[in-house]
Amino acid sequence: SKARGRGNFTLFVDEMDARYLERQRLKADLRAAVDSHGITVVYQPMFTPDGRKLACCEALARWHHPEKGPIAPNIFIQIAEEMGIVTDITHQVLQKACADCRTWPESIGVSVNLSVQDLRQGDLASTVEKILTNAGLPAARLHLEVTESSLIEELSAARDVLEQLRSLGITISIDDFGTGFSSLSYLDTLPVDVVKIDRSFVRNIGEDARRLKLLRGIVSLTRGLDIGIVVEGVETREQLALIKKHNCADLIQGYVFSTPIATHAVKGLAEEASLH
Ligand code: C2E
Ligand code: CA
Ligand code: CA
Ligand code: CA
Repeated sequence: SKARGRGNFTLFVDEMDARYLERQRLKADLRAAVDSHGITVVYQPMFTPDGRKLACCEALARWHHPEKGPIAPNIFIQIAEEMGIVTDITHQVLQKACADCRTWPESIGVSVNLSVQDLRQGDLASTVEKILTNAGLPAARLHLEVTESSLIEELSAARDVLEQLRSLGITISIDDFGTGFSSLSYLDTLPVDVVKIDRSFVRNIGEDARRLKLLRGIVSLTRGLDIGIVVEGVETREQLALIKKHNCADLIQGYVFSTPIATHAVKGLAEEASLH
């Protein structure tokens, strides 16, 4: 009936209002968290496939909402991008990551995620240089991760800014590699040192021979270009064994070795690994 239709519509509008308000509140709370430097950072180690050497840690942003508890970075980074404040988060994560890396053994680097919006900042390289100087961290210990999709979106801006960053001595990684549906031919033309193969290419390699073939195919294409290979999202011993057997990785990042950890736990984990 008409009445019921109208009732549903009102309900729908109320729900839309509620969701909109919820989102607005989350935005205000995120802004407050960023302004008060309330975004924290945890670190997920990357190991050599034998598990003995902790080579680098990826800095991962965390937001603990005062009432809602932890909000996933996939969610709050997207909100920050919508609000145009993601670059503030990047700078804060960079500052923390560089300061924390200074407290680790010298052989361990730190890898920080960039948003597509960071690539559009013409002064990114000079900002990063200042942060390194303030932290007293050599550029060689910093890696920056750019997703394949943001590279495709901002190809010309990215090329310039990545060249500048790389000439400082920073390592450039392509994150979520293989998910951007791009041609591999552009890899050769970009200033890239490392690819991080997305975890979707790892998930079923133990059960599905074609998935393993696909992973091995991506690896052999990039091996020819003299690019480092990190395989992400390795969760099981079986996946690790296959990756080792087929020489698919220089470094492994995944729960099989470690979840993200606090900065003070990095040194101990590196020492423990070297004993095995
Ligand atoms: P990402 O850059 O691909 O980071 C790796 C994500 O995979 C992390 O999730 C990590 O905890 C998770 N992960 C690691 N090993 C495994 C595994 O073995 N299995 C599974 N299932 N997951 C694993 P997290 O910390 O929730 O971050 C999600 C995404 O949020 C990141 O994906 C990145 O895109 C974004 N992000 C996090 N921190 C930052 C940041 O500081 N800046 C920017 N721009 N983005 C960030
Ligand atoms: Ca990443
Ligand atoms: Ca990734
Ligand atoms: Ca991702």
